[in-house]
Amino acid sequence: MPFRSHDNKKREGGFPIVLTASAIEMSDFNLDPFVAFVGGFPLGIFPKTLLRKTVYPPVRLHQDQTVRFAPYGLRKVEALLAEKFGPENIATVHPLQLDRFVGPQTKAVGISTMDPLGLGFVSRTYTNILGLRGKPANLIEFEALLSMRPLRRHHPRILVGGAGAWQLMGSNLMTRFGIDAIISGHVEPSVVEVFKKAVNGEKLDQVVETKAPEMGEIPTIRNPSIYGTVEITRGCGRRCQFCSPTMGDAYSFPLELILEEAKINAHNGSRMIILQTDDLFLYMSGPAFIPNKKTILKLIREIAAIKGVEFIQIAHMSLPPLVYDPEILKEIGPILAEKSMWRYGNGGPCASVEIGIETGSTRLVRRYMKGKSLPYDPEQWQDIVVQATGIMNDAGINPLATLILGLPGETEEDVMETLRLLDKLKSAKIFYVPLLFTSEKGTALEGFNPMDLGGLTDLHWEILSTCWRQNLEKWEPAFFPFARIADGLPPRTRLRAFLSIYAVAKKIGKEMGRFRRSLRLLS
Ligand code: SF4
Repeated sequence: MPFRSHDNKKREGGFPIVLTASAIEMSDFNLDPFVAFVGGFPLGIFPKTLLRKTVYPPVRLHQDQTVRFAPYGLRKVEALLAEKFGPENIATVHPLQLDRFVGPQTKAVGISTMDPLGLGFVSRTYTNILGLRGKPANLIEFEALLSMRPLRRHHPRILVGGAGAWQLMGSNLMTRFGIDAIISGHVEPSVVEVFKKAVNGEKLDQVVETKAPEMGEIPTIRNPSIYGTVEITRGCGRRCQFCSPTMGDAYSFPLELILEEAKINAHNGSRMIILQTDDLFLYMSGPAFIPNKKTILKLIREIAAIKGVEFIQIAHMSLPPLVYDPEILKEIGPILAEKSMWRYGNGGPCASVEIGIETGSTRLVRRYMKGKSLPYDPEQWQDIVVQATGIMNDAGINPLATLILGLPGETEEDVMETLRLLDKLKSAKIFYVPLLFTSEKGTALEGFNPMDLGGLTDLHWEILSTCWRQNLEKWEPAFFPFARIADGLPPRTRLRAFLSIYAVAKKIGKEMGRFRRSLRLLS
């Protein structure tokens, strides 16, 4: 269904409603979703113009300069607003194009953001560990967006939503950025009402807290999303206390809606489809998180069959369903490996997906994430992790696993348990991303002190360096001998050495890729 014509007409006076995101969030990072986390790094020593050209180039534009691809959440908002105000009154644009779309007739500018201040788990952890100083790139670009001339000149009302909107709550921050209202939580039930008030010049609540929407309130996107993102489930229900999707029970979207959105993406030039979910196995699952093999197989096969889909990326999987029904992965593993853009160590293709190991401590699993092991007991957590990652590796899937250091009340014995688990996983093909605990707003652990560098013990440093040593050994074997040289260093210095070697390996790998592509072009 076409949104509206994208011919090159400029609208005098601007569009009544303009939707956008910061330059960093209006990029697909050269189609690499895992690079997006560099947005949390302080890149201020490099000129913004250079970063916008190389690290996070803008998404492609239509002839009329609106964006061809936009963040998925913004596309949902766009669809809802189009229904109410008419598509001809809405423009979704890159921030560098705001001057073409914002004018005296513009009443409201909606901004979507994931991590405006660089306070997410990944950005906070690695900025601290690498001892990087200065503003995170996410913040630099968010400030740049809010200080764009058309916004200051025409004073439309500024409404902010998205997964990172919680970071901006508080009247000081809102005043500093000139934000009129923050929509916190799922946007669907309230976004139309908030925009209606903004357009009519009515008083706005500073923070609009929303509830989880009914399925019928969630629209189908009308235009393609960055990375071809398509939501297949929403919510989780395992209720881990540090996590926000825990707040609502999960529901699955009907297959026909998923396929419709996937086709909108693929048929409009997206080579990749990301299946957005907190756990693939929640898709149409039974009670106690029992996976529904038949519908999962159908889903993956039908997505893979869509013309133009070169890559499929599943956002997350949980581990117990893999142990419960290993056959599922045996069937979908080959499809995911064939449709994967990742290469493992020696260059062979592999699929990857994010999993949450979080800890090896039964005590912490029982205390903070009791639902994570269901339908099994927390006491079985280490066995579940070892078995499930083995099943993944056998199916050609080498996961990216998060670990959380510094959960409230964590003891030395808990950390030792995690080290023991890492030892059991020595031969597994896993990319580890150990993270410092962050207490996010809206979670059950909101208000607890986040872990910072000063709180890390020698055992924590041991976990961090063990993880990155294994990352080098498995994913960059050519550079592993350099890791061996660093082995004798104290854990903190060793970790920094491993991270630096990894960064160099990635850089050289990228250049080699470019070189090989040029040779192919010449031959
Ligand atoms: S299983 Fe994952 S998504 Fe679900 S509540 Fe726990 S951490 Fe969150």
